[in-house]
Amino acid sequence: MYWNVEKETMDRPSLAKLQIELLRRTVERAARSPYYQKVFQKEGLSPASIRTLDDLRRFSFITKDTLREQYPYGFLATPKDEIVRLHSSSGTTGRPTVVFHTANDINEWTELLARCMYMVGVRKHDVFQNMMGYGLFTGGLGFHYGGERIGALVIPAGAGNTKRQIMLMTEFHTTVIHIIPSYALHFIKTLEEMKIDPKRDLHLRIAFLGAEPHSEATRKRIEEGLGINGYNSYGLSEMCGPGVAFECQEKQGMHVWEDGYILEVIDPKTREPVKDGDEGELVFTSLTREGMPLLRYCTRDVAVVYPEPCACGRTHRKISRIKGRTDDMMIVKGVNMYPIQIEKTLMAISGVGSNFQIILDTKEDNDHMIVKVEVLNDLFTGNLQQLNDLKKRITNELHTELLVTPEVELVEPNALPRSEGKAVRVIDKRDKWGD
Ligand code: AMP
Ligand code: ZN
Repeated sequence: MYWNVEKETMDRPSLAKLQIELLRRTVERAARSPYYQKVFQKEGLSPASIRTLDDLRRFSFITKDTLREQYPYGFLATPKDEIVRLHSSSGTTGRPTVVFHTANDINEWTELLARCMYMVGVRKHDVFQNMMGYGLFTGGLGFHYGGERIGALVIPAGAGNTKRQIMLMTEFHTTVIHIIPSYALHFIKTLEEMKIDPKRDLHLRIAFLGAEPHSEATRKRIEEGLGINGYNSYGLSEMCGPGVAFECQEKQGMHVWEDGYILEVIDPKTREPVKDGDEGELVFTSLTREGMPLLRYCTRDVAVVYPEPCACGRTHRKISRIKGRTDDMMIVKGVNMYPIQIEKTLMAISGVGSNFQIILDTKEDNDHMIVKVEVLNDLFTGNLQQLNDLKKRITNELHTELLVTPEVELVEPNALPRSEGKAVRVIDKRDKWGD
C-alpha cells in the first residue's frame, strides 16, 4: 500500500519534529563530503547547530554553480563503493551537474514516486507507459521504478517515436502515461492526423505531466484531447528527480513531500524568505539522502506556497505551478516576462495549434519580439479573414498579458522545430540579454 496515511497526514508539529531529526542526520552525513567538511569547519557548524527548523538558515545556500565547481566528487558523502547510480540534469542551462545515489537513496526515491502515483489512482492492474527519455535524465528511471514498486506493468517506451507509442498503447491497453506537456500536445495532433480517437480507441485514464513549465490551459487541452486526468509532477535531478512535489486529485497545487525535503521560498534578489502566498524561488534541502545530501539548494524555479490545508487531508504544504525559472525570465522593452505567460495565453485560444516559438531581436536599437504560432490545419486551409481575426485576437490577448505588443506570425502545423525533451521556446538574437 502506498497510501501512507501516517506520513502523509502527519500534523504540522510532528512533521516539524521529524524534519529536525532528519535534518540533523543529513548534516551529519553531509559533513563526510569534502565540500561540507570544509564549509562546516570554517563556519563552525555541526548537527548540534540544529535545534529548531530556523537553524537551517545558519547554513549557506548552494546553487548549480556550486555543484559545477565541486564536480565530480566534492559533494560525495559516502565511499564510492556505496554508490549504485549516477544521474545528471538535462543541462538546459550550461554544463550538466551530476548526482550520486546509494541503494537506499534509490529506494527512498522510488517510495516517493510510488506514493505520488498511488495518490492519483495508479494501481497494480494499471499499464504504465513511460514516454520520457531514459538514461541520465531522471524522468525515465525514476517513474519506472515507482511504477514497478506499485506493481503496475511498466512499458519503458522512452521519448519520441509517436507511431510506436501509439502501437504500444493500442496493443497493451496502456492506462497511465508520463509525458512532457509540449510533447503531449504534439502527440494529440498526431492522433488526430491518424484518425485515432483516444476516447474510443485507447484506454488512457491518467497522465503525469512534468519536467517543464506548463499552464492550466495546456493541462485542459491535454485532458480534453486524450480524455484523461492530467496531474502536475515537479522535481529536479539535484533532489533525485520527479517526486519532489506532485498534485493530488484536488488538482489545486502540488504537495511537496516534506518528510523527504525541506522547502524554503526566498526572494531571488535579497535571498530573504518571502511570506507564504508570495512568489519566490524554491530552495530545497534533502532529508534522507546518503550519497549526496544537499542543503539549501536554490532551484531558480519560481512559485508560490499555498498555506491553506488541502481538502484531500494531506498536511504537506502545496506549491503552485512553476511560473518559470529566474534564468528564463525575459526582459523585453524593459518589461519582465516568462515564456509561460505566452503559453498560457496561446493555449486558451481556440484555433491555436500545438506549438509556438518566441524570437527576440533588435530592430532600430529597440527590442523586437516575434511570436510564431502554429494554427490548426483546417484554419490554415480556410479563409484569410479567419486567419486575420485570429492573428488580431492573439496580438490583443498577448498585449493584455504582457503589456508589450509582439509581432504575431501564424504558421502551418508542424512548421516549428520541436524537441523530443523539454521544449525550447525562446530564441534570443539580441546583442545583449535584457538590455
Ligand atoms: P532536471 O534537473 O533536468 O530534472 O530539470 C529540473 C527542472 O525542470 C526544474 O528545476 C524545473 O525548472 C523544471 N521542471 C520540472 N518539473 C516541472 C514542472 N512540473 N513544472 C515546471 N517546471 C518543471
Ligand atoms: Zn491534496
